[in-house]
Amino acid sequence: MKDDFGREIDYMRISITDRCNLRCRYCMPDGADWVPMPQILTLEEYACIAACGALLGIRKIKVTGGEPLVRLGCCDFVRMLKETRRIEKVTITTNGILLEQHLEQLAAAGIDGINISLDTLNPGLYQALTGGGSLSAVLKGLEAALKLCGEKQIPVKINAVSLELKDMARKLGCVYDGPGWPELLWIAKEYPADVRFIEMMPIGYGKRYQSLSHKELFRQLQEQYPNLEKDDRYHGNGPAVYYRIPGFKGSIGFISAIHEKFCGSCNRVRLTSQGYLKSCLCYEDGEDLRTILRGIGNQKEKEQRLLEAIKRVVWAKPVAHCFEHPEQMTENQDMIKIGG
Ligand code: SAM
Ligand code: SF4
Repeated sequence: MKDDFGREIDYMRISITDRCNLRCRYCMPDGADWVPMPQILTLEEYACIAACGALLGIRKIKVTGGEPLVRLGCCDFVRMLKETRRIEKVTITTNGILLEQHLEQLAAAGIDGINISLDTLNPGLYQALTGGGSLSAVLKGLEAALKLCGEKQIPVKINAVSLELKDMARKLGCVYDGPGWPELLWIAKEYPADVRFIEMMPIGYGKRYQSLSHKELFRQLQEQYPNLEKDDRYHGNGPAVYYRIPGFKGSIGFISAIHEKFCGSCNRVRLTSQGYLKSCLCYEDGEDLRTILRGIGNQKEKEQRLLEAIKRVVWAKPVAHCFEHPEQMTENQDMIKIGG
């Protein structure tokens, strides 16, 4: 389905929980006022919205959160989506802590891609940055994923928020003697996994931290690897720009929402865990689909109203975000409430 600016909207990100087993400093450092469970949609309710979205042209779904793997039935949900007519790809983004134990089930459900969020390979800094997370659990999840997904040709990617790690370590009071962001390149060197750097967005606690400039990050990467090559192969749904380093098994991606606005090719809408469908991260505008799902009327009438509401969200998609002018943002909720 096309929006008012001619963009094809075929991608829905669904946050299935606001809960998380980590406390990343830039996301939810002190936990949150958890939304009472009755206000969070059931997996069947998300699936119903996804099915309506599919009738309007949604083809790809990302399951996210909070941490999606802490939601009971997450893998069953992946299966439900995979069984939905016209949905072609279902992927997940996870912090990786619980990945090893859910991997077989995810693969059996038909997952099409796994993104693991990982900002540093230093165990002490990882623990400080995530409020107690175990790096070794994530690395076990990553290795298990690479093994299983390699056999099934399911892409595994690493997402790292572009942080000045030395500065971060100083702020968090931990000892860090690593090289900063280049330490993550080791993953792409050793494994067939893309490593993508994501600029910090001024959402919630993210406003407190400065993103590493991607212009500078790219300059440093090029300095270190002068034979870096642009990689124009298809890597997935997203707006990342990729490069290859000769000899590396994975590519390096840049998702530069702030400095390289990619709104002109935006293809997505976002469903919060409470069933609010948003047109853009930056603005609060959207439609409350939970009220429709739980309101009066038979299933057919509700589906009709859902279709109308989803169309309104797509048609009202703004031309671009306004992160460079935070005073114009109308979204004041934390990432955990919106769904990352
Ligand atoms: N818990 C899962 C995870 O960490 O992958 C899924 C949800 S998390 C909110 C999704 C992604 O958003 C993570 O990669 C996280 O690093 C990123 N994120 C959180 N706050 C952010 C911010 N202010 N700017 C950019 N990325 C952010
Ligand atoms: Fe949890 Fe992901 Fe937020 Fe970290 S970024 S606190 S893992 S939801």
